[in-house]
Amino acid sequence: MTAFSLDEAQLARCAELRTLAAGRLRPLAGKGEPGRVNRALVAELGALGLLSRLFTVGALELCLMRESLARECTEAETALALQGLGAHPVHAHGTPEQRDRWLPRVSDGTAVAAFALSEPGAGSDAAALSLGAERDGPDGWRLTGEKCWISNAPDADLYTVFARTTPGAGARGVTAFLVPADRPGLTGSRLDMLAPHAIGSLSFDGVPVTAADVLGEPDAGFRVAMDTLNLFRPSVGAFAVGMAQAALDATVAHTARRGAFGGRLQDLQAVAHQVAEMSVRTEAARLMVYAAATAYDEGAPDVPRRSAMAKLLATETAQYVVDTAVQLHGARALCRGHLLEHLYREVRAPRIYEGASEVQRGIIAKELYKTLEAR
Ligand SMILES: Cc1cc2nc3c(=O)[nH]c(=O)nc-3n(C[C@H](O)[C@H](O)[C@H](O)COP(=O)(O)OP(=O)(O)OC[C@H]3O[C@@H](n4cnc5c(N)ncnc54)[C@H](O)[C@@H]3O)c2cc1C
Repeated sequence: MTAFSLDEAQLARCAELRTLAAGRLRPLAGKGEPGRVNRALVAELGALGLLSRLFTVGALELCLMRESLARECTEAETALALQGLGAHPVHAHGTPEQRDRWLPRVSDGTAVAAFALSEPGAGSDAAALSLGAERDGPDGWRLTGEKCWISNAPDADLYTVFARTTPGAGARGVTAFLVPADRPGLTGSRLDMLAPHAIGSLSFDGVPVTAADVLGEPDAGFRVAMDTLNLFRPSVGAFAVGMAQAALDATVAHTARRGAFGGRLQDLQAVAHQVAEMSVRTEAARLMVYAAATAYDEGAPDVPRRSAMAKLLATETAQYVVDTAVQLHGARALCRGHLLEHLYREVRAPRIYEGASEVQRGIIAKELYKTLEAR
């Protein structure tokens, strides 16, 4: 495979995923309750063997999975991605006991995972997080504070929680803990967001954790968070590309059908050129996502720049493509339940989470100037 084309086997896997998403996952997604984790959907992702793949494939395959699912069923895509985001720290940094206890259940979809980094006072500036981990005996801590905007909360069964073990030490004083949802002192509440998946706040009131709950090493948790986000960042772009492609496909079909001014919408050059532009930008974003993921898999030195560019371009492009698709569909796109009404809600949040677009530009600029300084 090059960064510019997929091989036959990859194309076949993408086609198979789209068939499964349309036939097996979309019907289950339709039965979900808004704002709640759809456990039947997560279980089906497990039964189809898709969740266990999260822990065996590289960044490019992860991107292909997310793009393919997003084209047919964004709910399934998001459920899969969140299992990966929440459990990747356990997979990559957990002890054998932690892995044995949780990864089989995350993989078969009987345990739902979540990644709890953001706080009311620490979003983009995650190193400023303040959820406190105070020493409680030689082997333990008590967690006290708040997390917010946590996808899958408060329904999840396990949380990867980033807490401050050394006050005043910035990124170097953070520890990652694996916190089961039934720990005493841990409560949660739902947030009603534009993003159509379960999301909530968590409140920690002296939640007990021990050395057996630490992921990686004490005070080295920020690396656990960044490792996870580095892997997932290009794949947020893949999610966006899948949504853009779905919006483009719908627009090509609609404008070829819709009668207007004695012809069809596609006969109006102003319309056809917009469709062409949507297609060009979607393809450019896709190629950048594939290239960034390939760079990650190859351990290339310029992964931070490439990942930031891919996430930035793909999420901004998807916003443009979905918005243009709404425009070219007219009023029907805004009817509740229409594919584009759904995509219009889905497409907004990825420009904010896992590093807002402005944060990605900051990373890109920093990398550019670093190159200059190195000369
Ligand atoms: C749908 C959804 C799901 C989420 N899921 C999770 C989750 O599962 N786990 C989790 O931990 N978090 C999650 N988040 C939280 C997300 O990671 C934060 O929203 C994000 O990090 C931004 O933080 P903030 O919202 O506090 O915005 P702020 O940090 O307050 O930033 C607000 C805005 O300021 C600007 N800005 C910020 N920093 C810079 C900068 N350095 N340079 C230039 N401009 C800047 C940007 O425009 C940014 O959007 C989720 C958010 C959403 C919307």
